[in-house]
Amino acid sequence: MEASFRSLPSVDRLISDARLKSLEDTLCPALLVDLVRQRLESVRRSIALGNSCPSFDEIVESICAQAEALSHPSLRPVINATGVILHTNLGRAPLSEEAMAAMDRAAKGYTNLEFDLDSGRRSSRQVHVEQVLCQLSGAESALVVNNNASGVLLALSALARRGEVIASRGQAVEIGGGFRIPEVMRQSGAKLVEVGTTNCTYITDYEGAISQRTAALLRVHASNFRVVGFTHSVALPELVALGERHDLPLLDDLGSGCFLDTTQFGLDPEPMVQDSVARGAGLVLFSGDKLVGGPQAGIIVGKKGLMDKLRRHPLARAVRIDKIGLAGLAATLLHYLKGEAVKRVPVWRMISAPVEEIERRAELWAQALKGLAEVIDGETMVGGGSLPGGTLPTKLVALSTQGGSQGQSTVQTLARRLRRQGTPVIGRISGNVLLLDPRTVLPEEDGVVLEALHSVATGPEPPRRLTKATRGV
Ligand SMILES: *Cc1c(COP(=O)(O)O)cnc(C)c1O
Repeated sequence: MEASFRSLPSVDRLISDARLKSLEDTLCPALLVDLVRQRLESVRRSIALGNSCPSFDEIVESICAQAEALSHPSLRPVINATGVILHTNLGRAPLSEEAMAAMDRAAKGYTNLEFDLDSGRRSSRQVHVEQVLCQLSGAESALVVNNNASGVLLALSALARRGEVIASRGQAVEIGGGFRIPEVMRQSGAKLVEVGTTNCTYITDYEGAISQRTAALLRVHASNFRVVGFTHSVALPELVALGERHDLPLLDDLGSGCFLDTTQFGLDPEPMVQDSVARGAGLVLFSGDKLVGGPQAGIIVGKKGLMDKLRRHPLARAVRIDKIGLAGLAATLLHYLKGEAVKRVPVWRMISAPVEEIERRAELWAQALKGLAEVIDGETMVGGGSLPGGTLPTKLVALSTQGGSQGQSTVQTLARRLRRQGTPVIGRISGNVLLLDPRTVLPEEDGVVLEALHSVATGPEPPRRLTKATRGV
């Protein structure tokens, strides 16, 4: 061990190595010294555990690799060929050209974010979206915040702190990413009163739970699961009427929320914002980056009296929307106002793409794979906390590898090779087949996909033509 410690190179010797010297073009010298010290420290710890000292070259190369990783942003574009349109891990909704341009303009310089150009006085950033949201939803008031989770937290904190909020047991749900209704409720200082059972809740359950302490009724859209069979839930108008009799607001967390009727595309109905408003919900809460198809944001529309309480609450400042998101959201909402959302907003372009067009593109993709892939029928999921049971018919490009008992690991290798392309292409694995769905890729990205597929087809260990045995998808 002593000998190993003695063979550790010095900081100076490492720093003067030509490979590390050349890194000074991209990283500041002080950081480089830090990386060298940290590397030496971790080698020292490893030797103390009984491992041998790596060679000088190994140490240099590991420092170079770390410097390389540090000097490039790790967040980068990928191609979503997973077949899940609103993929939370891949950043949910891609934005329209107009939304991107608006965000670019807002990022570049100063804006009239909170400045009234007429009077020259201070104003509110909300003015840039409030009117459009009121027009689209029919509500009298609107507020946008950082995301829907913070919108729900703000509403509960402002309206129900130290009070009780009644919700159906079947709606005390977890959305994913740590958003659980009971925990958000606790955080807000409100007490959740669960009524009914997992599968059945009746209006009498709500009614029986109303007391002096009740501050609000809450409805949460079961956005990522489905309860089937013997079920009952209370329709919105009934809940609203109950709230009105007891002077209690109804908060409606729609999750995705949506301004367009999803059934026109053959999907299950997803609750529409304007319906909730028309049926009398006090506040309707939904995300900017789910089916609205804009940037991350939490949108709240509803009654002015309630909204004013939200605006005045200190949390409103803590969860306020940023100027770039606001610019993108405003541009996205405009597409709905102009009646061009299906043509312009990428998530709706994907949803509305005819299967014949998807098939034509899938054939092109398969050709780039030199016939080593097959085009098969499949389904696209909308995802992202919307339409839990709804899918769209699609055509998938199916790639296989050597199969057999190694099938799983080789299809993993293939998936990894696609992820390692200049622009990573992300597919989904089913059994020992890798599936790529053109529906979740915009046609203008096809060039990048074709390049990646071509590179995989001509590289080592190309995919293998599907056989009956490997086709079980
Ligand atoms: C997605 C979702 C949320 C959280 O919205 P974010 O915009 O991701 O913060 C809250 N409630 C429901 C029902 C959801 O589906």
